[in-house]
Amino acid sequence: MRLILIGPPGVGKGTQAALLESRLGVKPLSSGVIFRAEIEAETDLGRLAKRYIEHGELVPNGVTIEMMAKRIRRDEVRKHGFVLDGFPRTIRQAEALEEILDEMGMPLDKVVSIEVDDEVVLSRLAGRIGCTKCGEIYHSVNKPPKREGICDKCNSPLFVRTDDQPETILERLRVFRENTAPVRDYYREKGLLQVVDGRHEPEEVYQEIVAGVEA
Ligand code: ADP
Ligand code: ZN
Repeated sequence: MRLILIGPPGVGKGTQAALLESRLGVKPLSSGVIFRAEIEAETDLGRLAKRYIEHGELVPNGVTIEMMAKRIRRDEVRKHGFVLDGFPRTIRQAEALEEILDEMGMPLDKVVSIEVDDEVVLSRLAGRIGCTKCGEIYHSVNKPPKREGICDKCNSPLFVRTDDQPETILERLRVFRENTAPVRDYYREKGLLQVVDGRHEPEEVYQEIVAGVEA
């Protein structure tokens, strides 16, 4: 299965990518997760990316494309398929991805657009807490962990993303509308787009995605 998940921040792309991995074994490739790992490891790329991410801006296309291309070209991705989350986020990235996939003879199955209103995004992101180790996502109000600051699943410490501040969230929404909404239209024109309602429960969204890919 070769999928792209597209949608505003906080719509549940990461949650769906994790479900697709655990149930179907497809490899999640999340540009945000990869950037955060680079920042954590204090690499040159991490230092560069951090300056943009903290302000809710996009990391420049060149380095982003290079970073993702490297991962898409791995053997395990060829073997098990992938679910891209957070990439492509600009038309330039979408065109670069197309070249990589053409070259590898791996066409996309579907591009899933998960859609919700801005108010939903704001309420979900303000309060979002993530696990530093397994990536499980909690919410201070909607889905608190059993013990404060500790992951239910793997007992690792939880953290709040530095870009989940109200002003930064608004900026990320603006950046999404300006740069990423056109990517959705790009795939609609290619007949690859499937729209799902992100207000539904994660399980329901998951079933809709799988049904759409099998259709
Ligand atoms: P969300 O989807 O919740 O906004 P992500 O974890 O996907 O968050 O991304 C966090 C940040 O990482 C983005 O705001 C942006 O700064 C950077 N980023 C992630 N993916 C890309 C990309 N494809 N191109 C440019 N910047 C990116
Ligand atoms: Zn965990």
